[in-house]
Amino acid sequence: MPKDYLEKIKNNGIVGAGGAGFPTHVKLDCKADVVIINGAECEPLLRVDQQLMKIYSEDLIIGLRIAMDLTGATKGVICLKAKYKGAVIKLDKLTKNEKSIEIKIIDDFYPAGDEQQLVYEVTNKVVPLMGLPLDVGAVVINVYTAIQIAKNKPVTERVITVTGAVKQPQTFIAPIGTPFIELINECGGPSDLENFKLNVGGPMMGYIENDWNAPVTKTSGGIIILPIDHSLIVKKTRKTKTDLKLTKAICCQCSFCTDMCPRNILGMNTQPHKVMRGLANEDPHTLGSISNVVSCCDCRLCSLYACPMDLDPGKITNLVKQSLLKKGAKTEKSVPYEVDILRDSKKVPTKRLIARLDLLDYNLDAPLNEDIFETNSVKILLKQHIGVVATPIVKKGDDVSKGMLIATCKDSLGSNIHSSISGNVKDINELHIEIHA
Ligand code: SF4
Ligand code: SF4
Repeated sequence: MPKDYLEKIKNNGIVGAGGAGFPTHVKLDCKADVVIINGAECEPLLRVDQQLMKIYSEDLIIGLRIAMDLTGATKGVICLKAKYKGAVIKLDKLTKNEKSIEIKIIDDFYPAGDEQQLVYEVTNKVVPLMGLPLDVGAVVINVYTAIQIAKNKPVTERVITVTGAVKQPQTFIAPIGTPFIELINECGGPSDLENFKLNVGGPMMGYIENDWNAPVTKTSGGIIILPIDHSLIVKKTRKTKTDLKLTKAICCQCSFCTDMCPRNILGMNTQPHKVMRGLANEDPHTLGSISNVVSCCDCRLCSLYACPMDLDPGKITNLVKQSLLKKGAKTEKSVPYEVDILRDSKKVPTKRLIARLDLLDYNLDAPLNEDIFETNSVKILLKQHIGVVATPIVKKGDDVSKGMLIATCKDSLGSNIHSSISGNVKDINELHIEIHA
């Protein structure tokens, strides 16, 4: 596979669709043993990857082969769950004569889609602290990213599930920059928005967005609308000041948060109860070692499933982690302990998690509409990826066509941005470019 294919991936602004938007041309510019397709889609209620794997399975396999060629990997593994039956049947059929590509069925647990968990499921190796899957010879790619690698065209759309308190949950192919509210209205969303909240992303790792007109980005996999008094909303909107007060008042140091932490179970020494203790005692010495904190992946299982006192150890651990990283904290690239021999029995089944989150009523299909959603105006964010903000190369009043380059980024971790509709540039500021059809 020629290197100019990688250059084209860069020019087309392809970034990881499943996480922080890591530029794909950087991720694939390496030597790896195995490329893993992350089809776990472990966040409850989201329905993107499971449908893409069934409908665009040929493209997915082409994208995987290209990633294997670019990295020199001799093995490709598509990881998904048995419950995605349609996808399993189709992918099995398409790969039955492929010696280098394997379909791997993983357990239906949370967070199966965490890169570190997936790499362990496939290779039996643990990615070291502060390390990357490449440290154990693996590259992990999201399903939608693999499909984009196969097409290698400017990124102009994002596939996104809209669900929760709407009449008809749906999965859309939406132009980048489409206001969330338009998708919500298309699903028959509530008219009394003041009684609801918008969660962007999955229920576990997603965040509360106060602007209903906020735009779809390259990494928006789903939005969930929930009543303002739903327990998930109440917890996610709780002020940090209150979380800290509650930590001091009621953390009983039962350490369930640590016992159930998936990263701790992998042997990474993640110990949220020690962080809580350090804060409760106002004594940083009782926080434990750096590895207790920096190994956290923000999965929030400790906060939304494990803690019997309704505390938020995941949030607190992450606050401490960000502050330590900002101060330049480093730790050895190692795996402090062996993987817990009870790992399989400690996996949290998705079904149980959905019940615990009180989301059973919202656990519905969200069929993919294969037509591109029509919108009259888009706000395309200049930062949709990890790294530096892109710089606009168009001016107010310019006419642009769909797929045209409108912002570039010279930084190696940057990513190009293209217009997602044809129209006229109405506004440009430091955050976005607004285009009207
Ligand atoms: S599970 Fe909750 S109460 Fe128990 S140690 Fe962790 S934060 Fe404290
Ligand atoms: S959020 Fe909690 S459970 Fe998840 S990795 Fe961090 S400490 Fe562990």
